[in-house]
Amino acid sequence: MSKTQILLTQPGGVARGRLLHEFGLSRRMLADAVIAGEIRRIRNGVFASPSADPWIVTAAGHGGALTCSAALRRHGIWVLQSDRSPHVWLGTHGRVHHDRCSCVGHFFSGRTTLGLADVEDALVHLHMCQGEEAFFTSLESALASRQLNASGRARARSRMPVSARWLVDLARTDAGSGAESLLWLRLHPLGIRLESQVEIPGVGRVDFVIGGRLILEIDGVESHSGREAWHRDLRRDALASGLGYETLRISYRMLVEEWSVVESAVIGAVVRAQA
Ligand SMILES: [Zn+2]
Ligand SMILES: [Zn+2]
Repeated sequence: MSKTQILLTQPGGVARGRLLHEFGLSRRMLADAVIAGEIRRIRNGVFASPSADPWIVTAAGHGGALTCSAALRRHGIWVLQSDRSPHVWLGTHGRVHHDRCSCVGHFFSGRTTLGLADVEDALVHLHMCQGEEAFFTSLESALASRQLNASGRARARSRMPVSARWLVDLARTDAGSGAESLLWLRLHPLGIRLESQVEIPGVGRVDFVIGGRLILEIDGVESHSGREAWHRDLRRDALASGLGYETLRISYRMLVEEWSVVESAVIGAVVRAQA
């Protein structure tokens, strides 16, 4: 196996020279590989494959691991908000040497990794960094994609502040989308029932049914690209109305940025349905 191939098997394509020595690569061999351009030295004793992700290289260059949203994204997990710059986990005693660098340093406790934080660590950090909604939506995505198993979930829960553990208990393992997780979290305190991907005979599959009578559809710009799609939606709404449903169409942006508008529309419709 070449040096590059060994590096590519490490999380994020970065590794300490110490680890590479264990694979039988001497200092001399590493130095030669750097000169040959097969690997990059990113700081003393830390190496990266040429194709390593730039943010992971930045984190490793600080002696830490990329964490929070950006790390979760790289694990294929849905995130509510993307980080604008790398958030780097440096451990309790880490020291940062920034050189015109815009990273965010996190001095959270735990056994730090190099390069890319694992899913469990990144989730715990995300809660501390961005709060409940960001944490909950990514947690449900990690559970649904089987990137966090039951024992990882229990460990993450024990690392959370007691006041935040209810979020872990509320999380399901079959959430279909980030929008669904967000709705689930926000409607839960109101005691309003949420069903997703509901098949309504004569109408078809709808995104959500709230309180048994309100159809909520989250429309992207692309879903209204044609007259045909627009016509089909109007027709579906009319058919649903004939069956006693109300339909509320919102954009993903409204869900995230204008929750008070969506919330009062949902509550109004639920109250009307009960009248
Ligand atoms: Zn920095
Ligand atoms: Zn962060």
